[in-house]
Amino acid sequence: MGSVNLARKWIREAAVVTALTGAGISAESGIPTFRGPGGLWKQFRPEDLATPEAFARDPKLVWEWYDWRRTLIAAAEPNAGHAALVQLERARPSFTLITQNVDGLHERAGTRNVVKLHGDLWTLRCTVCHRERRDERTPLPELPPRCECGAPMRPGVVWFGETLPPDAWERAEAATRAANVFLVVGTSAVVYPAAGLIPLAKSSGARVIECNMEETPFSAQVDRAFRGAAGELLPQLVAS
Ligand code: NAD
Repeated sequence: MGSVNLARKWIREAAVVTALTGAGISAESGIPTFRGPGGLWKQFRPEDLATPEAFARDPKLVWEWYDWRRTLIAAAEPNAGHAALVQLERARPSFTLITQNVDGLHERAGTRNVVKLHGDLWTLRCTVCHRERRDERTPLPELPPRCECGAPMRPGVVWFGETLPPDAWERAEAATRAANVFLVVGTSAVVYPAAGLIPLAKSSGARVIECNMEETPFSAQVDRAFRGAAGELLPQLVAS
């Protein structure tokens, strides 16, 4: 049995399927990844903008970057990779999609059970009173946007050096431990703690299947590693 056929059989027979996605699944929707070509905005590296220090230093600059990303994403559409995961959720008795993405494209595609490890670009959070509000306007009329209390708001995402929302992390860990099949899609698997879910899935007994354009630190340890675009690989893997 070919590799794709075997992986498809594992997926078809799994009662519990959990997927972990990263920026690569949205690349075919035209949204730049962090790492790899096209990951630059002006002369800044995302790693230098997605930090609490950068926001404290220059909130307007950080917000300009997020506003640019929000505008790009608002004009983008979910792709065949997102759609294949919707199909998978409908086909399996238990399915959890853990994403590091903040773009909201999984929900827009129609996936219901999404665990957002790194928050959401469309949520704003007050830096003083911590009130949250959903705001989908692009571009935002004022940068930084203001809370009703008058204080500046920040993007409702998790920055480098910050802890993950505890409830999201608990759900992610539980779905990883329970998985018969764990699909890893379009993540460079270097950002922790998210990347730690891959060895956790393996040690909990899941078959781990990776889909990525390039090799990752876990490629040699997973049960199957497919090289290619998520929008081409996933439809093949979930076809019944
Ligand atoms: P990353 O940029 O580090 O890695 C992207 C990975 O996707 C790479 O390994 C690359 O080889 C692979 N890839 C690129 N195109 C692909 C395709 N068409 N099909 C399959 N794989 C493809 O992204 P990451 O691992 O998610 O990094 C973590 C951080 O990046 C997260 O904190 C996340 O919040 C943030 N991020 C999110 C978005 C988004 O929401 N769309 C975009 C950029 C970065």
